Amino acid sequence: MLDLAAQHAAIQPELDEALRHTLHEAAFIQGPAVGEFAQELSDYLGGPHIVPCANGTDALQLALMSLSLPAGAEIIMPAFTYVATLEAAAILGLRPVPVDVRPDTFNLDPAAVEAAITPRTGAIIVVHLFGQCADLPVLLSIGEKYGVPLIEDNAQAIGATCQLADGRRVAAGTAGYAGTTSFFPSKNLGALGDGGALFTQDAARAQLLRQLANHGQTRKYHHEYIGLNSRLDTLQAALLRVKLRHLPAWTARRQRLADQYDSALADVAGLRVPARDPRSTHVFHQYTLIVEEAASGSNRRDELQRFLQERGIPSVVYYPLPNHLQPAYGYLGYRAGQFPVAERLCRTVLSVPIHPTLSDEQVAYVAQTIRQF
Ligand SMILES: *Cc1c(COP(=O)(O)O)cnc(C)c1O
Repeated sequence: MLDLAAQHAAIQPELDEALRHTLHEAAFIQGPAVGEFAQELSDYLGGPHIVPCANGTDALQLALMSLSLPAGAEIIMPAFTYVATLEAAAILGLRPVPVDVRPDTFNLDPAAVEAAITPRTGAIIVVHLFGQCADLPVLLSIGEKYGVPLIEDNAQAIGATCQLADGRRVAAGTAGYAGTTSFFPSKNLGALGDGGALFTQDAARAQLLRQLANHGQTRKYHHEYIGLNSRLDTLQAALLRVKLRHLPAWTARRQRLADQYDSALADVAGLRVPARDPRSTHVFHQYTLIVEEAASGSNRRDELQRFLQERGIPSVVYYPLPNHLQPAYGYLGYRAGQFPVAERLCRTVLSVPIHPTLSDEQVAYVAQTIRQF
């Protein structure tokens, strides 16, 4: 799906230099590159405070920890997302409250969010799935109306922007109470290992998050809070500094390839290309097709996947089983049928290769093979 070796080969001398420098400097924890990367990422995102941490799941957990919610507080989130969104709430003894998503953008349905709000609601986690912003203008106003903070899980949409109701354009992850991201190697901005970060516009909140990520300490050996040991390695920060310089070009390349897929596939019966929300840019972490179900409920998604595989084309189902039906979350008491859109997406989505080192010819071959099917 993703040719990281080719992507790295293109910038090998820069990565080598970052590695060499980090080895030489030997400040492996909280070395200078961590702060430098945070500053450069902040510049790229329009100036939010950046709190680096160990991974995107920790980032979500830290954002929730910073709210000091009572046990059992309800965290509203999409029923269609990576499991980490749920996990971060569950591990803290908070209650994940999945709600259904929109069939076109795969993102949170604001009406379902509003319907799920109760006096116990502690936060809403908005996921910008596959690289496109959820309905931030409406979700922000719902958060404001009920006094509920919005956490943006931006692991998949770094660099996307969204136009808010007042016309302001903001970077994904920087509009709500806090945003989180992941530098897992396969993300649009990926480390050579694990990494993550939080974004916030509020200096005091950034300070609290920084302390929570470092054993809850306010100064060395003074622990005000129960925290985590969740830091971004100096080495990963140094490598991420290199990759961040290339991110705008890589994003533009992903967008061009998506346009190419769109024009080659838009007219295929029974297939839907990714819907685009005019208020958001799309950074195409994934290019996700829908293989429509027949009226009988039958579906040829898995058949298409095999057809592609036999012709040397990888594809992935993100995600095959919704979180509310995962064994680990059975204790929440949800049943099949409660989130019909999310459940249908699990049966009908298929993500095909999209990454910056893919050639026009390769994309044409994938599209042509799908048409042939
Ligand atoms: C990747 C991802 C995460 C978790 O990030 P890690 O760095 O792997 O912990 C969380 N949420 C979403 C939507 C993701 O795609």
